[in-house]
Amino acid sequence: MKRKLAALLCSVLLLTGCGNDNTLPKCADLITTTDREISVSVSRIDNLPSDFLMGADVSSYLSIDKSGAVYYDYDGNKLDMDGFFALLKSSGMDIVRFRVWNDPYDDKGRGYGGGNCDTQAAVTMGQSATKAGLQVMIDFHYSDFWADPNKQMTPKAWLVMSDDEKEAALESFTRESLTKLKDAGVNVTIVSVGNETDNGMSGETGWAERCSLYNAGSRAIREVFSDALIAVHYSNPEHDYVTYAKHLADYNVDYDIFGTSYYPCWHGSLENLTSVMKEIADITGKRVMVLETSWAYTLEDGDGNGNTVSHEENSDNPYYSFSVQGQADEISSVTQAIADVGDAALGCLYWEPAWIPVNYYNPQGRDADKVLEANRKAWEKYGSGWASSYASVYDPADAGVYYGGSAVDNQALFDFAGYALDSLNTFRYMREGHEAEGLTLSQIIMPAPISLEYGEDIHDYLPMTVRGELDNKQRLTFNVEWDEEELAGITEVGEYTAHCTITDEIPGSDGTPRKVMIKVNILPENLLINGDMERGDATGWTISDPMAGITTDDPYRGDYSLHFWSEGQVSFTASQSITAGADGELVFSMKAQGGDMGDGHIVKIVVTNESTGASVEGSVTLAGWQKWQETGSIGDSGIPSLEAGAGDKITLEIVVSGAAGGWGTIDDVFLAYK
Ligand code: CA
Repeated sequence: MKRKLAALLCSVLLLTGCGNDNTLPKCADLITTTDREISVSVSRIDNLPSDFLMGADVSSYLSIDKSGAVYYDYDGNKLDMDGFFALLKSSGMDIVRFRVWNDPYDDKGRGYGGGNCDTQAAVTMGQSATKAGLQVMIDFHYSDFWADPNKQMTPKAWLVMSDDEKEAALESFTRESLTKLKDAGVNVTIVSVGNETDNGMSGETGWAERCSLYNAGSRAIREVFSDALIAVHYSNPEHDYVTYAKHLADYNVDYDIFGTSYYPCWHGSLENLTSVMKEIADITGKRVMVLETSWAYTLEDGDGNGNTVSHEENSDNPYYSFSVQGQADEISSVTQAIADVGDAALGCLYWEPAWIPVNYYNPQGRDADKVLEANRKAWEKYGSGWASSYASVYDPADAGVYYGGSAVDNQALFDFAGYALDSLNTFRYMREGHEAEGLTLSQIIMPAPISLEYGEDIHDYLPMTVRGELDNKQRLTFNVEWDEEELAGITEVGEYTAHCTITDEIPGSDGTPRKVMIKVNILPENLLINGDMERGDATGWTISDPMAGITTDDPYRGDYSLHFWSEGQVSFTASQSITAGADGELVFSMKAQGGDMGDGHIVKIVVTNESTGASVEGSVTLAGWQKWQETGSIGDSGIPSLEAGAGDKITLEIVVSGAAGGWGTIDDVFLAYK
């Protein structure tokens, strides 16, 4: 009941818009969302090293606070800065991270945005964090604005310097910045020399130059904070970290922590994260950390500046649900993955949980235009968006064109109105374990339809588990039992529905058996050899070029597919011939997915009766990754079947051509009697 009421309030109140600007309605206290009431379930992580650090980068907090936005605790109490950092501490964080830019201002002193994160901002927030009992990590970008794998711009003041001068300037900048923090009593325990420096730092791309700069930073860190640990930071565990580590060793870089970012949409599997970081720890003897990760609790935008993770880009995801529970699942599984490295694992930090909208912007709201205008003013004045227009002098190509608000407000651990979400408690829950109470199963995720050929055993294809979602969007896997009596009748060619029953206990259930259905399609016997590619090699097929071959990349069904990719023009055929065993009509089909094939590309299938000269063909236009397209006389009544007489030679040829860089997979190629 409580939840329904909240949802109703939400739909009414959100229409009015909300703001902290004086000219806007003061309704932030009244805004409510159902997300806020949802409690999350988190399994206890048993193998955390004793000194493991949980935490987050909250660099934008101060500029959001200055812009007038308000943060609230779990009970709806307003938080001042000390209260905010105390909430992070009581939610299980040990450490907070602040980025520091050298000089994020134009010549009139106007901030570039992205929090206007200079040393003074780190001092102000760092004092409050220290008071709350949190450790502080300083993340030097050694740039005047954002530094990442695509951008490592030299600070303005260093542009005219020689390499030696730049090294000296970096050392003295680090010394001065850290001395200010030390004098202010900030408890700095980790300092990062550079941010995501995979491809360079401060305008230097060579490893020799970069390593000299790292060491200049390290000298100053050891001098000012002799007990602090020094981190290097790279962006993606799918990059060649082993080579990076070798360069660091070859150039005698003085560091303690090899850190990585890990964003699940872009940075590979958790298994890879664990194995790469374990290898690095083994090779280097250093500690390892995840320095950035995050997940969205919604695909909505809250501030009027479109988000990186959005309905447009991410409507289906194979990872976690876009929900408060999804955030808890992401944080805990990434933490588990780094903990699985062993004693070398030192921590896992969430990125920007506090980067909320200045004012909640709802494009349908009555005051929408006013709200957006107020947000734009704040982004310019206080730097609370990712970039202000003033950054254009320093970063004309990116900030100069796209300056605006936050692209990550839906990844915060506070909702759009500033109320703490229970996902913020994940840091605490991971040490203790936490079960949300009163949850019920809200939906079963329908298992994908299965197809098998006549004569194959259906048990080889039926899933043994189904996935369900609780009302807090937590996804669980349930074991099932199939109805064997029903399966015994599913043997002839045709479409069927099969049923199973969940055998595991279902949260919130009164014990009534829960049935789940699946669609089954029994296909006629395939006359092709290895048409489903499941032999795992090219058996049966003649493939004209090594740009195509049987691999485990993106199969439609089973474990293998015919995969292709070419740096140059895509051009190949895959074919096979059979002898017709009887008089009859032949039908065919093919599944394909892929992209980057350019205009006028061809993915065609041609079936020819060599004895009569007659042929039929179908084609598909590739529509993107895992967007499967089908063609053939089975799937398309517009394509006629092909007449065959006993003993006729039938050739099936797949013809693919497209632009350089084209890629895709072909699977489930089928030739059968109608
Ligand atoms: Ca946004």
